[in-house]
Amino acid sequence: MIRLDHVVGVRQFDRPLLDALFALACEMEGLVAAGDAKRLRGRILATLFFEPSTRTRLSFEAAMYRLGGEVLSVESGRETSSIAKGETIEDTIRIVQGYADAIALRHPEEGAAARAVAVARVPILNAGDGAGEHPTQALIDLYTIGRELGRIDGLRVALVGDLRYGRAARSLALLLSETRDTEIVCVAPPGLEPRPDVLGWLDDRGVRHREERDLAAVLPGVDVVYQTRVQRERFSGESPAGGGGAAYAIDEAAMARLPSHAIVLHPLPRVDEIAPAVDTDPRAAYFRQANPGLSVGRALRGACVVSSPLTGCGWLAGSW
Ligand code: ASP
Repeated sequence: MIRLDHVVGVRQFDRPLLDALFALACEMEGLVAAGDAKRLRGRILATLFFEPSTRTRLSFEAAMYRLGGEVLSVESGRETSSIAKGETIEDTIRIVQGYADAIALRHPEEGAAARAVAVARVPILNAGDGAGEHPTQALIDLYTIGRELGRIDGLRVALVGDLRYGRAARSLALLLSETRDTEIVCVAPPGLEPRPDVLGWLDDRGVRHREERDLAAVLPGVDVVYQTRVQRERFSGESPAGGGGAAYAIDEAAMARLPSHAIVLHPLPRVDEIAPAVDTDPRAAYFRQANPGLSVGRALRGACVVSSPLTGCGWLAGSW
């Protein structure tokens, strides 16, 4: 049995919990495929989104419906909810928890999910808090790595792009500290390097990491490329990276340097940092990455709203 109360950041997941959660996600995939996944019948999830989203909100909602539950949705909360009238996030949570059994929250302010937790009586799922964290995305990313490569340990992972404001890459870097014998190579344009707290966390946990500027030189030696877009909504005016973003793009020439077993991930949306010509390469795993989101989302929601017995899963049992 696993039980989560709130999902605020990835630092709350240790390896046994991760293994249990991924096994539960795997089990739920099987149950949904068999049409026998109604364990959230009678439960309601509220999705409160104060920033744009396609995948995160819809995958939360689709997972809820597939598990027999229902959804209340605020989609453009900055314009359409009482936040526009000056209500605080705390007051909004106090009210919405009267209507729902759990709340998935996306908000532009870092720390918003923790503020919500401080007043919440129902589980809060952080669906992105500004440049803070995106824990469910990182869980999906690590789950995808396991699915694609058959293991999550002993890998060299290149985190590329906006590692300063990108909450998905930030959460993944932190979560990778629960894997073994991992090396993280950070390849960020000047001004978009990872924040010191992430590097400090990796140091404290003994995770090997280094910073590089030359993506082309890094590619031949990695198993995973985690590409990200520059988070233009997080700063005004010019990108700190200036016009140098093209040097960090993945195109066909970059793919030619990548080992044949390696994969390219991206939390999406993509702007111009992966050329569309790369999409048909079998190593381009970013659209496959967007699909298991449903099963990890189910597992998270299932673990938050109900407890569930775990069963094994072939690829988990075999490789992890
Ligand atoms: N969808 C991810 C996020 O909300 C990545 C991105 O927007 O670049 O953080």
